[in-house]
Amino acid sequence: MSKNNRIHAINSIAERVPDAPSASLPADTSMATYGEDVFGEKEIRAFLPKATAAKLLATVNEGKPLDPSIADDVAHAMKDWALAKGATHFTHWFQPLTGGTAEKHDSFVEPRGTAQAVQAFSGKNLIGGEADASSFPSGGLRSTFEARGYTAWDPTSPAFIKRHANGATLCIPTAFCSYRGEALDSKTPLLRSVQALKKALRRLMAHFGQPDGRVSVTLGAEQEYFLIDRGFYMQRPDLLQTGRTVFGAAPAKHQQLEDHYYGAIRPRVLKFMTEVEDILWKLGIPAKTRHNEVAPAQFELAPVFEDLNLAVDHNMLIMEVLRQTAERHGFECLLHEKPFEGVNGSGKHCNWSIAYNGRNLLEPGSNPKENAIFLTVLSAIIRAIDKHADILRAMTAGAGNDHRLGANEAPPAIISVFLGDELNAVMKAIETGTSARAAGRTKLKVGVDTLPPLPRDTTDRNRTSPFAFTGNKFEFRAPGSSQNCAMNQMVLNTIVAESVDAISDKLDAMPGDFNANLQKLLQRLIRAHKRVLFSGDGYSVDWPKEAARRGLPNLPDTRSAIQPLRDPANQKVFAAYGVLTEGELASRYEIALEDYHRRIRIEGAVALDIARSMVRPVVADEFSKLATALSVAKKDGLKTGIAGLKALSVRLGAGLDDLHVKCERLDKALTKGKHEDQIDAMRDLRHTVDALEHLVDDARWPLPKYREMLFIY
Ligand code: ADP
Ligand code: MG
Repeated sequence: MSKNNRIHAINSIAERVPDAPSASLPADTSMATYGEDVFGEKEIRAFLPKATAAKLLATVNEGKPLDPSIADDVAHAMKDWALAKGATHFTHWFQPLTGGTAEKHDSFVEPRGTAQAVQAFSGKNLIGGEADASSFPSGGLRSTFEARGYTAWDPTSPAFIKRHANGATLCIPTAFCSYRGEALDSKTPLLRSVQALKKALRRLMAHFGQPDGRVSVTLGAEQEYFLIDRGFYMQRPDLLQTGRTVFGAAPAKHQQLEDHYYGAIRPRVLKFMTEVEDILWKLGIPAKTRHNEVAPAQFELAPVFEDLNLAVDHNMLIMEVLRQTAERHGFECLLHEKPFEGVNGSGKHCNWSIAYNGRNLLEPGSNPKENAIFLTVLSAIIRAIDKHADILRAMTAGAGNDHRLGANEAPPAIISVFLGDELNAVMKAIETGTSARAAGRTKLKVGVDTLPPLPRDTTDRNRTSPFAFTGNKFEFRAPGSSQNCAMNQMVLNTIVAESVDAISDKLDAMPGDFNANLQKLLQRLIRAHKRVLFSGDGYSVDWPKEAARRGLPNLPDTRSAIQPLRDPANQKVFAAYGVLTEGELASRYEIALEDYHRRIRIEGAVALDIARSMVRPVVADEFSKLATALSVAKKDGLKTGIAGLKALSVRLGAGLDDLHVKCERLDKALTKGKHEDQIDAMRDLRHTVDALEHLVDDARWPLPKYREMLFIY
């Protein structure tokens, strides 16, 4: 048996006997267990007195303020339900600014006298909690003398059960704030931004004579991920510590043949996916779509869109379930934006739409009035993206996503809006006052005419656009696979609210015929902001030049992309809408910058460690064996083989020298601390190591190779 762990891992996978299709239990096709791990409407009605249930549901479904007097009743009901599910503990589940989730478990145990205890959970326990905030990033918000953080129940996202091998935990979605009420999480500003957008839309709808009604903001987040065998994962310190491979030569075949995308899903992966879906369905998460993605070993999961706040919580859970389930199946799920160089990275496409009284405002509609509303909302969004592209871009920044955005892979770092040919023609018609179909024939009158039918986008034609209209929603493709989408969605809501209000302000100030005013206003808006519209190839080399000519910001890396968080103009908008104070927004800058620097440093240190302690010994050993063989051959006066041995040892020796130089350089860069130098030195070292991978005896190469990790599973 080989002593090389890498070869051992390959053999283990080869020996794995796949399950026969009939070997395992069939999935629950009745949907009877759907939502069984959620304290949802059915459970609220079953476990609470009728009046209390009605009050709680008014908060959950209609956003009415929570009546604090019902907290104790709700807590008891939740506890009874959770105990029946085998829960021993509860936790306030929140989303600190680390980008992940946090939980601190407390048992229900309450001692009663000596050696006796009961299970208790009070309204106070449910509504609020105290957590030491000092170890969570606060970007300067939390003063050192006040380390307390507070969690506050978010009743609009239902409590749920997380199961583990020996029981379960009741999880209560919460917001997380500092002592002074500053948001230390991503949920608080998200909820504030939804409020702001709802208010702005109600005001706008009043202009159209719509009855005051319910606004809903929805998100469908497509989650991309990689799966590799855990046997390989455990032998890659870079994957273990940074989520991406800092070394790895390109395999002969990767994604050139385009044979993975939508290909038949391998049984082992399908088995994993089925279990993921089973868990998600029990959590009431509507996992809908599963498929192979573009890169080998890359996949996607998409749920049906839901209320934005809920969809964000659900996406956080999806990522967790993917990772934990993968482990049980002998896989590792990689959520990093770019685990493997040279093949596609992973994104999280955020499909966003808004509805008023149940009608999707991004749906063109069937009569002139609905069309007018659609065009107005559309224009507001275009204005918002044009004015605030920089801050939307900021929310997609990060060390991981830097490998994706703009890095010859899209979506590009330039934020533009794709509308599609038909809608572009409509916008053109409004802008120039001509017909949508044939220029100059009849005018398109907003509020009077209907729109020509707009086909739903079903093709791949706009895959290169970071912000694309896809029939009845916008798809924001820049966010990275590991990121919490609350951040970008919070910005989207806020900037659209600001644009919607700007339109309302203008309409308020225009006397006379409403439709004529609206037409004029939309015309002005399109003229002012059409530069952000782009239907061409976002990957093309000409686009950055064209974008520069148009004055669109191109912020290619984290350092430049997060600067807008410090821009007073942006701070003003977020403060005005009560989403983030100046300090809260600035704190996001500090946190993003620190996170970026730390990640780059960790990557550099891991790369250096692997190069010195795993790669160099193998190269040195092989070189010395060659050198010995060469001198023996020379001494023995061999006629053949000497040239070959010599050529090889020259190449290997040069590689060894190179390795030493590059390691020293990276070491120095890490000590000096300049992140640009670290990135350069890391890239340089990678070239050397990847070249050596092709030279060194395969049986001794210590790191699982791309051709193995991406294909053997
Ligand atoms: P794609 O072609 O990009 O894969 P899909 O049709 O699979 O698009 O949809 C992707 C996501 O968009 C899904 O999560 C879906 O539920 C969501 N989605 C569909 N309609 C809307 C909408 N009106 N608002 C928000 N998300 C939506
Ligand atoms: Mg998509």
